[in-house]
Amino acid sequence: MKPLQDLEHARILVVDDEPVVAESTAAILRELGHDVTVAHRWTDALRAFDPLATDLVLMDAVMPNMDGLKLTRLLREQSQSYVPTVFLTGLRTAEIRAQCANAGADDFLTKPVDALELCVRVKAMLRIRALTRALEDKTRELERTARTDPLTGVGNRRVFDERLVAEVARSRRHGRPLALLMFDLDHFKQINDRHGHLVGDDLLSLFGTILREGLRASDLPCRYGGEEFLLIAPETTGERARAVAERIRLEYRARTAVRGTVGPQTVSVGISASDVLEVELSERSLLAAADEALYRAKALGRDRVELGSRPNDAEV
Ligand code: GH3
Ligand code: MG
Ligand code: MG
Repeated sequence: MKPLQDLEHARILVVDDEPVVAESTAAILRELGHDVTVAHRWTDALRAFDPLATDLVLMDAVMPNMDGLKLTRLLREQSQSYVPTVFLTGLRTAEIRAQCANAGADDFLTKPVDALELCVRVKAMLRIRALTRALEDKTRELERTARTDPLTGVGNRRVFDERLVAEVARSRRHGRPLALLMFDLDHFKQINDRHGHLVGDDLLSLFGTILREGLRASDLPCRYGGEEFLLIAPETTGERARAVAERIRLEYRARTAVRGTVGPQTVSVGISASDVLEVELSERSLLAAADEALYRAKALGRDRVELGSRPNDAEV
């Protein structure tokens, strides 16, 4: 967040089709120490407006081509962040004020602008900007924490459920491949029993790191629960997913081997994928087939990758 005192040096965009008016407003603001950009045309204003960096817009209400009212709507539509806008108008009527308010004005100033009045309004608006920015930052952070497993840094079950529904729908609609990889750390209970839960936690965290590294941006790694992880891999066939799983399996062994306390550890993986699934693709069938494959990997001695084509339960 930009601290409040930083708003002594705010970034302000002044939009006015009359260069003389725009420059005199800009000069007052520059005198106060602000970083001011002037735009005479709406196209320049669109270009100069940066929702993340701009702190305040001073907008001429009446301009040719596109007036300030329309332009403000356009800027607001483009921006996820709330940037206060003060309208400047030569007209004092209640009607124009009502129009400005409807278009999203946070305040008004009448032209010619009085320097002291401008300073007071700008200060108040910048305080609002600092508060909304702090709120926006906090909301973003909360959204991120609500979606992340704190120990391992991968997505939590909630994100997994949401994303699986979306990816299954996408795969069905466009006939694109989709793979689901299910990982279960081998003999993990023994790690806790022998070395304590903190060492167990370290291994879970390491596995989370391995999952997050080297994936495509569209891949989603999640913690399913306990020592079980899932990876949703869009645009991925079963065979391709097998290669990904093998790489992760070997990586986990290599990275645990160099940790003196526990020695090399292993993981079993069950994969299901839309291109090999013998039943209709759905969230349930994909999960059940991966589960079945994982069960088989465990039964065949662990530390291996198995590809599943149908769920154990034929009714899924
Ligand atoms: P298998 O090879 O068959 O998977 O054996 P396993 O011991 O890994 O499987 P099991 O399901 O019997 O045990 C899983 C263990 O994972 C038991 C539980 O205490 C441990 N565990 C689950 N969540 C956490 C956690 O957050 N931290 C730690 N340290 N351990 C956890
Ligand atoms: Mg388990
Ligand atoms: Mg296990």
